[in-house]
Amino acid sequence: MAHTATPTTSQKLKMKIAVLTSGGDSAGMNAVVRSVVKTAIAKGCDAWVVREGYEGLVRGNANGSSDSGAVREDASFVHNLRFGDGELLKDGTGDYISGRTLKGRYIVRVGWDDVRGWFGEGGTLIGTARSTTFRTQEGRQTAVYNMIKEGIDALVVCGGDGSLTGADVFRSEWPKHVEALRAAGKITDEQVTNHHHLRIAGLVGSIDNDMSMTDLTIGAVTALHRICESIDNINSTAVSHSRAFVVEVMGRHCGWLALMAGASCGADFIFIPEDPPSEDNWEDSMCAMIQTHRETGQRKTIVIVAEGAIDKDLKPIRADYIKDVLTDRLGLDTRVTTLGHTQRGGAPAAYDRIMPTLQGIEAVDALLESTPDTPSYMIGISENKVTRVPLMEAVALTRSVGTAISEKNFKKAMSLRDPEFAEMLAGFYATSVLLKEPKLPHHLRMRVGIMHVGAPAGGMNAATRTAVRYCLRQGHKPFAIHNGFLGLLDDNVHQLSWLGVENWMTRGGSELGTNRKLPDIDLGAVAAKFQQHNFHALLLIGGFEAFHALTMLEGARKNYPAFHIPMVHLPATISNNVPMTEFSLGSDTSLNALVQACDAIKQSASASRNRVFVVETQGGKCGYIATMGALATGAVIVYTPERGIDLDMLRRDVRFLKRRYALDQKGKAEGRLVLRNESSSDVYSTDFIRKMFKEEGGSLFDSRAAMLGHTLQGGIPSPLDRTRAVRLALKCMSFVEEHHQALLRQHGKKHAPPESAAVITIQGTTIKWVPVTEMVAHADMQNRRGKHAWWEPYQDLVETLVARQQLLDKH
Ligand code: ATP
Repeated sequence: MAHTATPTTSQKLKMKIAVLTSGGDSAGMNAVVRSVVKTAIAKGCDAWVVREGYEGLVRGNANGSSDSGAVREDASFVHNLRFGDGELLKDGTGDYISGRTLKGRYIVRVGWDDVRGWFGEGGTLIGTARSTTFRTQEGRQTAVYNMIKEGIDALVVCGGDGSLTGADVFRSEWPKHVEALRAAGKITDEQVTNHHHLRIAGLVGSIDNDMSMTDLTIGAVTALHRICESIDNINSTAVSHSRAFVVEVMGRHCGWLALMAGASCGADFIFIPEDPPSEDNWEDSMCAMIQTHRETGQRKTIVIVAEGAIDKDLKPIRADYIKDVLTDRLGLDTRVTTLGHTQRGGAPAAYDRIMPTLQGIEAVDALLESTPDTPSYMIGISENKVTRVPLMEAVALTRSVGTAISEKNFKKAMSLRDPEFAEMLAGFYATSVLLKEPKLPHHLRMRVGIMHVGAPAGGMNAATRTAVRYCLRQGHKPFAIHNGFLGLLDDNVHQLSWLGVENWMTRGGSELGTNRKLPDIDLGAVAAKFQQHNFHALLLIGGFEAFHALTMLEGARKNYPAFHIPMVHLPATISNNVPMTEFSLGSDTSLNALVQACDAIKQSASASRNRVFVVETQGGKCGYIATMGALATGAVIVYTPERGIDLDMLRRDVRFLKRRYALDQKGKAEGRLVLRNESSSDVYSTDFIRKMFKEEGGSLFDSRAAMLGHTLQGGIPSPLDRTRAVRLALKCMSFVEEHHQALLRQHGKKHAPPESAAVITIQGTTIKWVPVTEMVAHADMQNRRGKHAWWEPYQDLVETLVARQQLLDKH
């Protein structure tokens, strides 16, 4: 995981670090630039941006250096450089560069505030390009010269595999070009000594998620958001007219977007390059499957095609051709929608703000630690952890997917994608293909109870749909237990059907109905109901209460044989407070709702006058949403129940805000966010803090409050919550199947071991089953959260990214 290195390391190594974006743009590139710039400055280095990708390196600065060389020591940390209208570098305080235009300047020294507010913007604000000149030796030599002229020591490149290949070529050739420039008398011996080696780090900015050795590329999640938004919209018109839609999405060599969209939106069929249809006459099987779905009563048909989709002989499969097949053979009123560049645009999703921020920090760390002998690193992601992998290894592996496909070795192509890819493909088939004959023999089939417990969270319905469809394929009978344990006692139990859950991927809230009641309202009666309905397995979807309920059911096994069945808990809560798991369903949806609300609040704040908005978030006694929300929105202060609030803290906060506002450009209103979890303090309420800031802000800043409340629970579930729901629900179903079969092998004894009552958790890079009996030791039952909060250090990061300590120390 990325951590901020201590400033002491950096002060020893005062580097000039430049960042560029290259290749196709993607959401999150601005977050990378912001993070690299801020981290570099926070660690005592100078930060530079290169405009227009590698082309900017080649063009350099027409009118000499863009660094005045006269940065005042005391202004070097927070100086008010700004890009004005994309053309002028304006300075607010007059202490740095005055009236210099960016025309003809591509390598530009930037300051802390230049990158303020960049989170909310899609694409890349420093420009990107495809540079043919940089592909030549001469072009790269000019780039070396321009960089040395500006004194740049290190480069962060954010782009696709082409850009990262370029980065590696550039680094390996660097010494050769330096030597040639010295021989030509263009650089001095001192410059040669200072720049004998280039430090480089790569981040993958690509909407296709087509890079190996990283789970997710920067921008892919946002592109998936755009695709899902479009398909969700198409769904309603498709149902109204009983139409079929063939939707083409991006992905020349990688089917990730098509696959994830297929799974998230409940598509009927997908075409991706890595897994072409295996038959010659795939049209027949596609039509047969769609016909089966229509026979269940389904009124819409959605087929998703990656732009690089092919058949097993590598012949492209085009959306128009599929449309003709569906129209001619099934008589369906079929339309084609090509999403095209809409997929690239729009505000970055929460994930594409948080992860690029962490990756940018890691990139700067990698540069600071780099030596001539270390390889160039690509900063990747494994589950939710930031990783460093050798850049060229990742590029070579990525290329080998393309080669495997061109050699028709699709098995290999699939194996080269990360494991989640294959799991999601299996998940897609498991939830989209209705079999004529179920898979399991009668004696292995189960009656599965599914219940939602606690507050609603995005993805609960998606997980239920997945479980139901899996059950029906296998031959199990899925039962909805409506309204939690109370509903069970009222016999509010109904069998679920394939069609009944059709639209549940996109539904927020809880379709089953949920409440916070635990089984101890009457354990004996609950056991009797289990017996009456003859449940062989139970799936609980919910938050801390669901976990608590499972501990009770497991504990009651000694008294009630009806609980000797496999029982699983799939964590789903916006608070993300279930012990031992890093993510619960709903927390991503909630973060995205928070980001959207905060973007709007910040805009309104900046439009009027200097204003601090104290935004209250839900989360119970868990500060996850507030902390990650602060990271995703660039909030300046975050209050959580884990750390609480005291007077000293508030005093420092006021001092920090005063110093921060005093440094702002005069005449321009600035809005800043403070995030406060609802349970951070019983005394220092949101309204108290608002009033205190208003009073203390005086003429510097005003203050307002906003309560996000239940808006954080609702809305359409995010694609990440939907895909996680599919993946985890399938694992839950395999788990209960395995344990059910183990019970059958006991020949009537029916003794379920403790590990058959378990919680599915995401821990680091793996998914782990934790017996509920073990979980108890990790739970803070009083505060309803885990004892260990993996995200807690990010609170410090929020402070680092607003230079809190430096501002408090400086004056
Ligand atoms: P996308 O995934 O969006 O296509 P990309 O980074 O793969 O992004 P490319 O057009 O392949 O896009 O590469 C971007 C730029 O990187 C090129 O225009 C070129 O300047 C540089 N580049 C790519 N490959 C090389 C190479 N082998 N040597 C030097 N420079 C390269």
